[in-house]
Amino acid sequence: MIRKERNCLNPECESIIQYFENPKKLFCTTSCKNRCHYLWDREKNLEIYELEKELKINYEIADNFILHKIYKVDAKVAKAIGFNRNIYMDIKQYLPNEKLYRSLRRIKDIYYRYDIEEDVIVFYKYVEKN
Ligand SMILES: [Zn+2]
Repeated sequence: MIRKERNCLNPECESIIQYFENPKKLFCTTSCKNRCHYLWDREKNLEIYELEKELKINYEIADNFILHKIYKVDAKVAKAIGFNRNIYMDIKQYLPNEKLYRSLRRIKDIYYRYDIEEDVIVFYKYVEKN
């Protein structure tokens, strides 16, 4: 049987797998294999990847505000620079007897809430006390 040359399965790679190589070989290199599996997984879990991406963007924006000691941002301004207030990791609820009786949206160590009356987003950064 004559084996033909095949292309590496990684869609981003144009390498050819030579006819004399192992017939079970599907990728030219291990990194091509890893990359291809990553691409398949990303396609399968696109929504999750997109969410992750938005979470990272939100965190970066929020962290930058806090870095510049800006804790209250006009919601329209935040939106204009790419902050999507509906993308967060989870919500922290506070009990009525706690100082902050509000539910805060969390991304890592940053918390925020949307103040509908003022149309602002208020950011908080959690600092651990020793
Ligand atoms: Zn390849």
